[in-house]
Amino acid sequence: QSVVNKIAAGEIIVAPVNALKELIENSVDAGATTVDIVSKDGGLKLLQITDNGHGINKDDLPILCERFTTSKLKSFDDLSSIGTYGFRGEALASISHIAHLTVTTKTKDSDVAWRALFEDGKLVAPKPGQAAEPKPVAGRGGTQITVEDLFYNMPNRRKAFRSPSEEYQKILDIVGRYAVHCKGVGFSCKKHGDADMSLSVNATANTVDRIRNIHGSNLANELVEFKVADSHLGFTAHGLVSNANYSVKKTTLLLFINHRAVDCYPLKKGIEQSYATFLPKGGRPFVYISLEIEPHRVDVNIHPTKREVNFLHEDDIVDKICEAIRSKLAAVDT
Ligand code: ADP
Ligand code: MG
Repeated sequence: QSVVNKIAAGEIIVAPVNALKELIENSVDAGATTVDIVSKDGGLKLLQITDNGHGINKDDLPILCERFTTSKLKSFDDLSSIGTYGFRGEALASISHIAHLTVTTKTKDSDVAWRALFEDGKLVAPKPGQAAEPKPVAGRGGTQITVEDLFYNMPNRRKAFRSPSEEYQKILDIVGRYAVHCKGVGFSCKKHGDADMSLSVNATANTVDRIRNIHGSNLANELVEFKVADSHLGFTAHGLVSNANYSVKKTTLLLFINHRAVDCYPLKKGIEQSYATFLPKGGRPFVYISLEIEPHRVDVNIHPTKREVNFLHEDDIVDKICEAIRSKLAAVDT
């Protein structure tokens, strides 16, 4: 059974960034206004995320890493109306099968924080001879998740990672995406032992300033806002896009569907085509889009690691968004 769980977990989490994305979403779901990330060896040795969200009740800790444990479905009816992917209660369970997982958490009703260690979906003793139960520790309100030695029990997978700095770039990329999108939430990310942050965004920063912080002033000064909605197609979209006087080296699409970072190849292609007539040859756009689609129209059964999503009327929605962006570009161009 544990081998099966390990294999399944290894399919959900193929690199540190997959675990981190789930953990960031959990922190944001928990209402955190600060999310601080530390990583070592590109997240393979250590991935730690500390938030100031609502925390987890001590009584919920023993089953926290059982599969399908989720606090995010109140009733069966919720199943058809939930946000989208996620909300399956699989992330923490998966991580516990392929890493050493420590959860330290404090709710506002608790006087102390509780620390629990997990392995293979179950609470384990902090040290041999001790009881397998949460231990009271000093701590502030919120949750800290520590993932150590990811893939420790999958030596071949572990060996396949040649470059920690490549993994760290992926970590910075995903943190940067959420840091742009999650208004009201401050983010920081650094390498373990470094004094300086690689990335740091204030909770109070507006979206342009978030982009300025992460992608630089040159870009931030050349952004255009756009907005489009269609009730028949069941979507609203808004965002910030680089104008026709500015280009980046490669197409950057920060896409959120129902507040989850995703990829959508047809949309990316459509955007590149839309810019082609405006930008000098070889010029590429920077595009941030928050797309909200009625949840029942988004495919929830897509493979968990795949950031690519499917949704109804994809072609029509892509067309509408590209049209809205094009008309903004044309307006600024003249
Ligand atoms: P899901 O997010 O799909 O519910 P997860 O395995 O990611 O499943 O998390 C399981 C449960 O653990 C969540 O439903 C939530 O109740 C709790 N949880 C996880 N991370 C946090 C966090 N940072 N703050 C508060 N609760 C959390
Ligand atoms: Mg989750």
